[in-house]
Formats: sequence, structure tokens, C-alpha cells
Amino acid sequence: MRLITQALMTLFKHYKDLQLYLTNQLVKPVSVGFVPTMGALHAGHLSLIEQSKKRSGITVSSIFINPAQFNNRQDFLKYPSTLEADISALEENGCDILFLPDEKEIYPDEASKNKHFDIGYLETVLEGKFRPGHFQGVCLIVDKLLNIVNPDLLFIGQKDFQQCMVIKRLIRLQNKAIKVIVCPTLREKNGLAMSSRNLRLQPIEREIASELFKTLQSIKQKIPFTDFIQLQKKAIGHLNEKGFKVEYLQLAKAADLEIVNNYKSGEAYVILIAAVLNEVRLIDNILL
Ligand code: AMP
Repeated sequence: MRLITQALMTLFKHYKDLQLYLTNQLVKPVSVGFVPTMGALHAGHLSLIEQSKKRSGITVSSIFINPAQFNNRQDFLKYPSTLEADISALEENGCDILFLPDEKEIYPDEASKNKHFDIGYLETVLEGKFRPGHFQGVCLIVDKLLNIVNPDLLFIGQKDFQQCMVIKRLIRLQNKAIKVIVCPTLREKNGLAMSSRNLRLQPIEREIASELFKTLQSIKQKIPFTDFIQLQKKAIGHLNEKGFKVEYLQLAKAADLEIVNNYKSGEAYVILIAAVLNEVRLIDNILL
């Protein structure tokens, strides 16, 4: 059941207004689906909106480029912003509510950033290892947004595989009754995982960047018959030749992200990669 019938999206800049609106306008059992983003929206983001619309009574999205999750200042300063196009895209795709806070709204003072989340092992490997503090920043913003929106369903992308695990852990830690729906990675025709950061790549670099997924696919094909360490060495060599600086290319158990060197058939694995191409850091993964 849904009380508000509106073709237009409602935009909130202040969390108190959004909370008041959600409390006053919604009559249970309307389910709230939430899609948090950092903007520069692409079809991957919009696929999460689509999923939320299918499964929730009302869809809330947010756009906030969260400074707390950037361990590299330049990456933060160069993060793309396409706000007008984002608002139109959300509206056209039937998003009901957009939360668009500024930095002061989320972090009114230094104390508002002082919270530590016990995410354990996940913080010590892969993205956690190469981006110190990143997942604390992710938890900080996701925790704040979940407290504000109080969704029933949370839609996030498999592209950020480790982030999905961190967010699930955060939700468990905070004892929240939120169902997390992990949605598949949307890709360009050449296989490149859609990402806001792709806007910083030239067309020729986007072609080169598609090598990341092609490499993951090739390893997936060969891994039942070939030693992973050999495949890893060859793939890193190949990507370096193409102009990437590979930060990691690892095989891990999909259930807990334990890094392993050997593949055994019958178990669920994921291969994860992070590589920098012309100062643009890209990540991707493939499930086995
Ligand atoms: P971001 O704006 O990069 O913080 O991403 C917001 C949400 O969109 C996160 O849950 C991402 O995992 C998800 N997302 C990003 N890229 C894609 C993609 N190519 N396909 C599906 N979901 C994605």
C-alpha cells in the first residue's frame, strides 16, 4: 500500500525533513528500498533503482560524495559530478525520493566523524589493505544514511564485492533488520564494468580498461586446469604491458574473502582485481 502518488521525485537536502516526510507520509506496511550512491550515475546505478522499484513500495536514493572514504585526496577532488543529469535520470527511472545532503549536513563537526566500526579481517585485505581507512569511511556514511532512511531493503552492487561484505557486516553489528540485495555488475559492451570513474578515461583508455574483465574471464576458464599462481603472474605481466599498474589480482573464497592460492572444484570463489590506468583506479571481480 502506498499513500503518495507522484510522478515527480521529491528532493531533500536536510535529513530532518526527509525523516519527517518518511514518518508522516508513509503508512506501514510500505517497504522502503534504498540505493545510496556518490552520483555520476550510469546504467549500473539505475539498475539498482529498477530492482528497488520492483521490490519496494517506495524508492529512496542518495547522492553524496563521501570525503571520509577517500584515502587519496586527488581521487576525491577528481571524482566526477554530473548532478543535473543524475537528477533527471533518477526522476526518469521512477525514483521517488532523492536525498542530496551537503557535507555539513552529514558531518557537522569533527566529532561526527569519530566512530570506529569493528569490521575485522575485511579491513586488512585487498581494498582494505590498499586503501587504508576506506572501509571505516564507507561504514561511517552507510551507518548515517541507514539511520536516516531506515530502509527495509538495501540495494548494492556486486561490482564492489568487498564493500558488499563490509556493509552486511555493518548491518549485523548494528543489529538492523535490513535485507541486503546484491545486484549484478552492469558492463559496457566491451566488458568494462560501468563505473563513475570511467568518465575520467579517454575512449581509447576505455578499450584498454576492458582488458581487466577479459583477463578475469580468461583466468576463470583456465583455473580448473592450471595453477592459479602461474595464471596470476602471466595476467599481471600482460596487464602491465597494456599500461596498467596492478595493485592486486587475487583468488579468494567467496564466503569470507579468505585469500587462497589453490582452486578446488565445488567451492565458491571470487577473483578480484584492482589496477590503475592513467591515474584512474579501477576494480572488478568475477565469481567462480
Ligand atoms: P557508487 O556511486 O560508486 O558509490 O556506487 C553506488 C552503488 O552502485 C554501489 O552499491 C555500487 O556497488 C553500485 N554500482 C556501481 N557500479 C555498478 C555497476 N557497474 N553495476 C551495478 N552496480 C554498480
